[in-house]
Amino acid sequence: MPAQVIVVGSYVQDQTWLVERFPQVGETLRAHGFNTGPGGKGFNQAIACTRQGAAVTFIGAIGNDALGGIAQHIAKNENLPCRWQIRNDQPTAAAGITVNARGENQIAISLGANEHLDADFVRAQADIFASARVLLLQMENNLDALAAALDLCTQHGLLRVWNPAPVHADLDLALLRRADIITPNETEFALLLQRFGNTKIDPANLAQQNDATLHALARQLGIATVVITLGAHGSFVSHGENQRGDSDACYRIAPESVHAIDTTGAGDAFSGALVAALVLFRERPFRDAIRHANRVAALSTEIVGAAPAMPNYAAVIARFG
Ligand code: ATP
Repeated sequence: MPAQVIVVGSYVQDQTWLVERFPQVGETLRAHGFNTGPGGKGFNQAIACTRQGAAVTFIGAIGNDALGGIAQHIAKNENLPCRWQIRNDQPTAAAGITVNARGENQIAISLGANEHLDADFVRAQADIFASARVLLLQMENNLDALAAALDLCTQHGLLRVWNPAPVHADLDLALLRRADIITPNETEFALLLQRFGNTKIDPANLAQQNDATLHALARQLGIATVVITLGAHGSFVSHGENQRGDSDACYRIAPESVHAIDTTGAGDAFSGALVAALVLFRERPFRDAIRHANRVAALSTEIVGAAPAMPNYAAVIARFG
């Protein structure tokens, strides 16, 4: 089946050590548990999207090394078609995560090959852009590769959805404005406003703002649709003039009631599921896609981990109808 969704993004091998407490400087501390699995915002979102039933192709870069082999193996097991750029000069990305007995974490990440995804490699994948409907981006890659993907969307008429996470140091407003929809969390939204809207706000207070205030803030960015994820407070939608099939210019979707134990990757679940719903629900209102994304993200918090915690479509329907 030809791809409906293309994700151009990052793959990171997450390696997690469970420790009683964080080691001191110079100390070697024995962990009582270890696990490793796929991560990276791009790959997580591609998994979330594919588990909703959308036909997804992932485009990313890995090293010519053992972790790169694991990445390919995991993608095959997940039935996720990938176009990998396999680099000889860069390692596959890896994150070292230590989690202490209180559930707090410390993370060191090397983005490795993700930051060296050749724009020419992306351009060479034009064939799949010709039939796809939506592109989904994040910000763990070099921006010229993402710009190349946006160029292909312009040529082939794809909808462009961008999860601006983490906000890239070199991001400029003209590039961000090439997105049709962005999905920042509270912190990313505050950072974008500070850089591009000349407004300094405290992300911790965002969810308490009224809808009119949030809408006015979102409009400062000049992007057609801004969807702010508000963690345990659900999400907020702000449309510009083209309201994307919604009757309201702005609204909130309340959080689903879940027993959250680990919110890692909830934002990835949200963006991946939103894009899946946009292609699968077709003529249904945008609001329905947001509601579905809210449900998938909420359910993902009930399981530990990022990619492994992404629920499939059947699980979402079984829980919420
Ligand atoms: P992460 O960086 O951990 O992937 P994030 O900060 O990007 O997460 P959040 O805004 O925390 O993303 O969460 C994304 C979505 O997940 C929210 O919009 C909401 O729909 C859902 N969600 C998160 N936490 C909860 C919760 N405790 N209860 C219900 N839904 C939640």
